[in-house]
Amino acid sequence: MPSLLQVENLEVKFALRMGELTAIDGVSFRLERGERLGLVGESGAGKSVTGFAVINLISRPGYISGGQILFEGIDLAGLSAEQMRDIRGNRISMIFQDPYASLNPRKTVRQTLEEPVVFHNRRIGGGEVKDRVSQVMEQVGVDPGWAGRYPHEFSGGQRQRISIARALTVAPEFIVADEPVSALDVSIQAQILNLLMKAQEDLGLTYMFITHDLSVVRHISTRVAVMYLGTLCEVASADTLFASPRHPYTQALLSAIPKLGAEKKRHVKLKGEVPTPIRLPSGCVFHGRCIHVNHRCREEVPRLRHLSSGSWTACHRVEEGRI
Ligand code: SF4
Repeated sequence: MPSLLQVENLEVKFALRMGELTAIDGVSFRLERGERLGLVGESGAGKSVTGFAVINLISRPGYISGGQILFEGIDLAGLSAEQMRDIRGNRISMIFQDPYASLNPRKTVRQTLEEPVVFHNRRIGGGEVKDRVSQVMEQVGVDPGWAGRYPHEFSGGQRQRISIARALTVAPEFIVADEPVSALDVSIQAQILNLLMKAQEDLGLTYMFITHDLSVVRHISTRVAVMYLGTLCEVASADTLFASPRHPYTQALLSAIPKLGAEKKRHVKLKGEVPTPIRLPSGCVFHGRCIHVNHRCREEVPRLRHLSSGSWTACHRVEEGRI
């Protein structure tokens, strides 16, 4: 049986006036049903571009310049715009970072939630549409009696609940959530994460979470993929990654999480800045900032290798057993 999602050697470029920018450079991963994959990395790592590529929403000047995205074995690039709209409407949904910007301020919650139901089920009756809207509002913990209200009449947390309700209206199997809690107060974040986990349990969903926040990833992911400058550095189960990160970039990222008392560890400081994606560094893209860099790192691109710990890591020095 094919994986729910299989991304093979994905490449995404942006054609800019000053040259071509490589946003994603040969990213491959699989997602099985029921998984919650966290995609992490600093801003500019290519997390959101990967998410948008998966749901075929990369807009010009960006374009997919190579690789394949297979959804249950179906190559999404080979689908017509209409077929893709059908898959996106019926099987794949997206939750965006800013609930206020992603909801139309001129539409009531009912209008917002009815739209995708009607669009993807042309023969559905008015009563059924109403029932579906009430059902998803209840699912996300918003009183269906408030369906006549506008987005500005809700708090940030309630608006994100409505965004989640919109993603659920079409009964998807797979949801891409792009920084779903980063615009919310810390006190609300846990409620929304718990709501997403409950929805997964109840509806058998599969998630791809895009976030820069490692505590969110730890809370919600079953597996984590770490990205740096459009490439994958490390992929591992959440437990393995947080217990024993192998790639020097992952180690630096995790060492920056504040810890208390005995848990306190040395903070691995990264040197330099993230290089421009217009001129990607030779060899390992992380070599200019890595404390373990050697000659081979500057010349040869490291490939993801499977380690006995269960993680996949793209690092020459890890492969050589020196880290
Ligand atoms: S390949 Fe070299 S530069 Fe890249 S992460 Fe490993 S040690 Fe550092």
